[in-house]
Amino acid sequence: MDLNRYFSILKSLPEKVRLVAVSKTKSVEEINLLYTHGQRIFGENKAQELKEKYELLPKDIEWHFIGHLQTNKVKYIAPFVSMIHAVDSLPLLAEIDKQAAKHHRTIPCLLQFHIAQEDTKFGLDLEECDTLLRNPQCSIFKHVAIHGVMGMATYTDNTTQIKQEFKTLATIFNHLKSNYYKDKDYFTEISMGMTDDYLLAIEEGSTLVRIGSAIFGTR
Ligand SMILES: *Cc1c(COP(=O)(O)O)cnc(C)c1O
Repeated sequence: MDLNRYFSILKSLPEKVRLVAVSKTKSVEEINLLYTHGQRIFGENKAQELKEKYELLPKDIEWHFIGHLQTNKVKYIAPFVSMIHAVDSLPLLAEIDKQAAKHHRTIPCLLQFHIAQEDTKFGLDLEECDTLLRNPQCSIFKHVAIHGVMGMATYTDNTTQIKQEFKTLATIFNHLKSNYYKDKDYFTEISMGMTDDYLLAIEEGSTLVRIGSAIFGTR
């Protein structure tokens, strides 16, 4: 763990940008050490691993689920998860709504967009998203709240391309805000930026950066 890097990242973040410390594959001891230094938001991408860590660690941690979530795994995290970053289908949204209702919760979610020029990454395009949000089923969900958007840029050295992809996500955010969420004060989040590109993401309007290896070391 690189605590100096952690503190220098924290210092570099503008006031409105929050840090999700991505702790996937890392031990509860490592997470607890960062917790003792004040970090409260952690990100994980495996539902069962997240549930086990939740049970062992302090209860004021905000756990963010950041990866692709299968519908049959939602039940493991629904009782406690603070935000689900990567919602990209109506069936997934429906399952989150159903599981959240069981626990009398409303779960904040982000819609994931495919902004990279790589076909391995999950996510919606704008047309698919408009179709999803116009589906009447969507408006009956009472236990999910869409707080914004999430995306991952292409893994490349080409900073012009990365910036362009982040710009695209910011434009999508603005489109959704004005077309669907104008009166929703909580629709505020743009989750973009990781270890290699978070500074570019911040320049383009990120509000949540998801940083793992810079803090915890390589996985
Ligand atoms: C692993 C992961 C990260 C963190 O990546 P680093 O390059 O280690 O900072 C961020 N977002 C998602 C969705 C991830 O799966």
